[in-house]
Amino acid sequence: MIKYVAGIDIGNATTETALGKIEDGKLLCCTSGITKTTGIKGTKENLYGMVNSLKEACRKMELPMPSLNLIRINEATPVIGDFAMETITQTVITESAMIGHNPDTPGGIGLGIGFTVFLEDIFESDKEKDYIVIISDQYDFPEAAEEINHAEEFGYSIKGLIVQNDDGVLICNRLKETIPIVDEVALINKIPVGYLCTVEVAPPGASIDFLTNPYGIATAFSLSSEETKHVIHIAKALIGNRSAVVIKTPSGSIQERIIPAGEIIITGKKQQYRVNVDDGSDKIMEQVKRAGTIQDIHGSSGTNVGGMLESVRKKMAQITESPEASIFIQDLMAVDTLVPQNVVGALANEFYMEKSVGIAAMVKTQKLHMQHLASLLEESTGCPAEIGGIEGDMAVLGTLTTPGSGKPILVVDIGAGSTDACYLDSTGRKTTIHLAGAGNMVTELIQAELGLSSREEAEAIKKYPLAKAESLFHLKHEDGSVEFFKTPINSGFFAKVLSIQPDGFLPIHTQHSLEKIRSVRREIKKKVLVKNVLRALTQVSSSGTLHEFEHVVLVGGSSLDFELPNMLTDVLAYYGITSGKGNIRGCMGPRNAVATGLLYAYLEEEKNHE
Ligand code: ADP
Ligand code: MG
Repeated sequence: MIKYVAGIDIGNATTETALGKIEDGKLLCCTSGITKTTGIKGTKENLYGMVNSLKEACRKMELPMPSLNLIRINEATPVIGDFAMETITQTVITESAMIGHNPDTPGGIGLGIGFTVFLEDIFESDKEKDYIVIISDQYDFPEAAEEINHAEEFGYSIKGLIVQNDDGVLICNRLKETIPIVDEVALINKIPVGYLCTVEVAPPGASIDFLTNPYGIATAFSLSSEETKHVIHIAKALIGNRSAVVIKTPSGSIQERIIPAGEIIITGKKQQYRVNVDDGSDKIMEQVKRAGTIQDIHGSSGTNVGGMLESVRKKMAQITESPEASIFIQDLMAVDTLVPQNVVGALANEFYMEKSVGIAAMVKTQKLHMQHLASLLEESTGCPAEIGGIEGDMAVLGTLTTPGSGKPILVVDIGAGSTDACYLDSTGRKTTIHLAGAGNMVTELIQAELGLSSREEAEAIKKYPLAKAESLFHLKHEDGSVEFFKTPINSGFFAKVLSIQPDGFLPIHTQHSLEKIRSVRREIKKKVLVKNVLRALTQVSSSGTLHEFEHVVLVGGSSLDFELPNMLTDVLAYYGITSGKGNIRGCMGPRNAVATGLLYAYLEEEKNHE
């Protein structure tokens, strides 16, 4: 007799189906379906995604859905992850000492040093000195340019301009001599007058280099070595800008203030471990490790971490309709990062890369209402549905369909919210663990660190290589290769950094260079994915060292990553471990492991019945 059986895996991000045609306990053929998970994993909102994923598999099999004999869903690990970011430093300018910003169109070019003076006062000034002239929005650009030209004819030496309006280029075009002009400085009245000031504008496509060098600033202002130490922060804050102004005020300074970011309290089996968020991710992860099997994690109340950890708990309590007190946070992953933040006390909305910690947390409860979900599925499809097996076990069973694999096997499933590992040793003993932090955390960190406004762009940067459209007829790829086109590409792509997607190019809206985006992307993948794989292996090993493993099979959506396998190979080779992507059923790549496992578990049961 022929039977049709489907396994459905509901993940945080994706709902996958494996549908098998079975005759006398033998699998004749198999199709699959994949859709986005609808709603939070484990809730009734999942139904829609499940049905669609099933429909796709049925369509490929040319099977009407009601002819299905059995559907099995996974006993989903009740795990939800959440992510929060805590900024722990804040740069504050006391007195106006620096303007460093990226107006779209600064004017002129070069470096100018002189004393600050408002345009209206220039004719009363001392002719012996050099000047940087401040032009408020009372002047329109022809008027401003005329006054400057006039002053120069009169014998005043003007070395640069600071302009309130977005007029830099317009003024520059009307001047007799080219000088650097920084425009769009909103709070022009805060600029101290009569002080020595340096204005720098880099050529198009380049960034300033004199003022990003502390010794450059020291040279301009004849600073002592003690004073030079204080300007390191200024120099750092200006890196990457197209234009900048630095003014030497008597008490002006830039300070880095540490914001108390709260405390994380980890309850281990025997005792509590406490750590401050502003100690950074290494210290936090050290405590997470020391705590061993974590019972629960809290954050001090009234802080961002506290709020975030409690909101994860609350969300899970709502989903499972259980009291918050019964929900425990079982793992936490912290990563150091830098995020662009407005400088407090700045004159032109300057940004500074402040230190932050990104945190992913994971909650586990006793049980999700998977049984309820199975009944709903049964109602809407008209075929029997039941819970088939535990996610980790199913992942191993599915992964074992990879050609060339065998027991013992170590599987790491890198999904959206969590990294799960399962080790099946040669005696059949299984160890499974779930860790917070996977693909979503990578996307969130890319978006935050590059200051992108769209999550779609961050996801694209994560998944696909970059290129730059150097002309309408050629692209330079991130690996240095050049691709030529017979017909011109969309002119909107010109000079942009593009994400090379399978179905075309997505321009990234950012001022960052391709090299910068690439290095941020790779660094974040190392900090999150590589680190978590190592954590996972350490935790499933019986000795706590990695040397007992020989081979790791990677599955889950994040294993599709184009550069992760190489990064992992580099690190794991050190321990003598080889790693590779699974190829489920010899055709699915690292996808569909859990769904396939559900189907194969059924096949094994059938065999045992006979
Ligand atoms: P889950 O089991 O939690 O539903 P999946 O196994 O479907 O998760 O993996 C989803 C994750 O995989 C997402 O974070 C997604 O961004 C990531 N992902 C999917 N395709 C790729 C790819 N080609 N490169 C890198 N990451 C990918
Ligand atoms: Mg999964």
